[in-house]
Amino acid sequence: MLSIKNLSHVYANGVRALDDVSLEVPPGMFGLLGPNGAGKSTLMRSIATLQTPTSGDIHFQDIDVIAQPELLRRTLGYLPQDFGVYPRVSAYDLLDHMAVLKGVAGKAERKETVEGLLQQVNLWAVRKKAVAGYSGGMRQRFGIAQALIGRPQLIIVDEPTAGLDPEERNRFLNLLAEIGEQVVVILSTHIVEDVSDLCPRMAIIADGRIVRDGAPHELLASLKGRIWTKTVDKASLEAVRASHQVISTRLFAGQTVVHVLADKDPGDGFAGVAGGLEDVYFSTLAAARQAA
Ligand code: ADP
Repeated sequence: MLSIKNLSHVYANGVRALDDVSLEVPPGMFGLLGPNGAGKSTLMRSIATLQTPTSGDIHFQDIDVIAQPELLRRTLGYLPQDFGVYPRVSAYDLLDHMAVLKGVAGKAERKETVEGLLQQVNLWAVRKKAVAGYSGGMRQRFGIAQALIGRPQLIIVDEPTAGLDPEERNRFLNLLAEIGEQVVVILSTHIVEDVSDLCPRMAIIADGRIVRDGAPHELLASLKGRIWTKTVDKASLEAVRASHQVISTRLFAGQTVVHVLADKDPGDGFAGVAGGLEDVYFSTLAAARQAA
């Protein structure tokens, strides 16, 4: 269990990127969903001991993460948002080198680790190619392989599907889903489907604050009977916005499909619709903005 209490972070320029964040993260996949600039990377980097928060506590099992960062690093697998530049060495050699850094000292053990991981992430056939020449999806799968070195108990993946095409994204998410239910896996993303496809628990972060958290089906239940939809043309969209609480708009075949939030039938041609996690997300963000 990862336990975060009253975590705040203020950057040197005065930006309060995290504002009193408290969160309990159980084993299994946990989705941290929020728009760009919400504070996801700041939170992920703080948990990964890459930066020290201004105040608050982070505990993982019996490790005090802020006081004992080196203990956490032994059991952490981290896939950063941006891996930076890859050297022009083969995936095999790079992974082997990373295993050395991670303390997998024995040659036989390292061979087993590296070969097992390359097979697990389906890069065995291209293990001799330079990672620099990999596609985006292959790089992300390599990123997962390096994060899994040494069987970490805590795995953090920061916006892993950004920039992947649908097929690559699918393969990547399937790989994440296989990692197992015994370890804590935190997936930070601004893509609602990443969470709805994969995560039994989730939280929504906006402006440095956790604004919702729970199981996706519980959050969905709170919207039951309160989401209404209608297809309108562009010209009448403003009028709909003025008279209803619009939570999302989406173009479909040149027309705009509007979702609004209302406790009872708004009439006016609206029909009830079973909400999705996207409705939870957008209505939560709208409420957070109103409260701010
Ligand atoms: P997200 O990962 O959700 O996009 P970030 O954690 O990257 O959010 O950023 C949260 C806020 O902190 C943003 O307003 C961002 O501009 C600001 N920020 C992030 N990194 C720095 C930094 N190194 N110095 C100053 N401000 C930063």
